[in-house]
Amino acid sequence: MTDVMQSAQSTDEQRVLELTDRLCDGVDVNDERGFLAAQFDAGLAWVNFPEGHGGLDLSPKLQRPIQLRIAERGGPLPAPGNVLGYGMAAATVIAHGSDEQKQRYIRPLFTSEEIWCQLFSEPGAGSDLAGLATRAVRDGEEWLINGQKVWNSNAHNARWGMLVARTDPDSPKHRGLTYFILDMQAPGVEVKPLRQMTGQAEFNEVFMNDVRVPDSMRLGDVGDGWRVSLTTLMNERVTIGGSAQNRPGSGLIGSVRRVLDEYGADDVKRAKFMELYTRAEVLRLTNMRAGQLRTAGTPGPEGSVGKITTADLNQEMTEFAMELMGPHGQLFGSFERQDNVQVDYSDLRTYFLRSRASSIEGGTSEIQRNIIGERVLGLPGDVRVDKELPWNQVPR
Ligand SMILES: Cc1cc2nc3c(=O)[nH]c(=O)nc-3n(C[C@H](O)[C@H](O)[C@H](O)COP(=O)(O)OP(=O)(O)OC[C@H]3O[C@@H](n4cnc5c(N)ncnc54)[C@H](O)[C@@H]3O)c2cc1C
Repeated sequence: MTDVMQSAQSTDEQRVLELTDRLCDGVDVNDERGFLAAQFDAGLAWVNFPEGHGGLDLSPKLQRPIQLRIAERGGPLPAPGNVLGYGMAAATVIAHGSDEQKQRYIRPLFTSEEIWCQLFSEPGAGSDLAGLATRAVRDGEEWLINGQKVWNSNAHNARWGMLVARTDPDSPKHRGLTYFILDMQAPGVEVKPLRQMTGQAEFNEVFMNDVRVPDSMRLGDVGDGWRVSLTTLMNERVTIGGSAQNRPGSGLIGSVRRVLDEYGADDVKRAKFMELYTRAEVLRLTNMRAGQLRTAGTPGPEGSVGKITTADLNQEMTEFAMELMGPHGQLFGSFERQDNVQVDYSDLRTYFLRSRASSIEGGTSEIQRNIIGERVLGLPGDVRVDKELPWNQVPR
């Protein structure tokens, strides 16, 4: 970085930290919703977003110092319980929404007055998302939606869904899709919980029967749904891959360290712990760098690197913790279904079971490897025989 760029950044940093201090002085840090609303209005929600929409058009690198300062002052984390909204929907609405849509949806998303879910996967379309079958048929100023989605995290709490549906079955699969914001309270939307092996029901099946969506809730152009979806998907990878808090005293590696202290370990196990710790630290620093490069659009394929590494590490760290615990690792509390309960990540037995999902959610590790192979390393593409065929002629 040149001296001029560095001094511009430090001036901007000084400015946003002054604004953050003013925010913390002026609003009760314990009033979660009031504080977040004021943070949004001050342009400190996503500092890289446009002014008037929660940002100040500044470098995304400045968000971290803002959040650290808010944490120091005892303020709340952004978008509580609204991970998909905060990490994916906001970026998608900012990149592709009309001014009215940005105005309407982003502020209540940040304050968590309105929770978002993602309605992409279907029973017949996960990795091959572009093959999805949910239909949207135009009817005047509305669209009629019919179909089924699956694995939809937090759909049971959501006010809005990020929905991709097929509007043109005669076009090849990627070209016949359109992106909508779905009102989860609209007549015809039915949400059914799915129980995971931890007992929790984090995700759901969502059925849509003759659901009417006004055209004003379309995000992007008709037929441009794949491009809009990519913004959501690339942000999803960064959100999942970038979420690791791997400092020794905190996050998963911190919990593993506590198990190591409690159960004891020989030299071989200590060496294994050090290897995991080093990899976790490399991941933490890589994520920090990737996060600073992130702008208000579609992150690049580097998100896939963090996503795979996080998945592998989550699984290896929790497996190692189970090994340290020996038979105690099998003393799992209860497999009874628990609705509306968040997974307790400090319990490594639960985390061990939950970490199986890490290499599936947000696109499997195999798919991330395909992305890295093709888009980062320039290797030959995966075989895609149906790419140019009209969707309704693809055998299924
Ligand atoms: C905890 C959790 C939360 C989720 N939350 C959501 C959500 O909120 N919203 C949502 O829409 N979806 C969600 N999903 C769904 C998730 O995105 C899909 O499960 C994932 O994309 C894989 O799709 P699939 O399950 O249909 O598996 P498939 O696509 O059927 O894959 C089966 C296997 O084949 C492999 N495979 C498939 N194609 C290829 C290929 N071309 N090359 C190499 N290997 C391949 C896969 O890697 C996998 O091992 C969630 C999933 C989990 C586990």
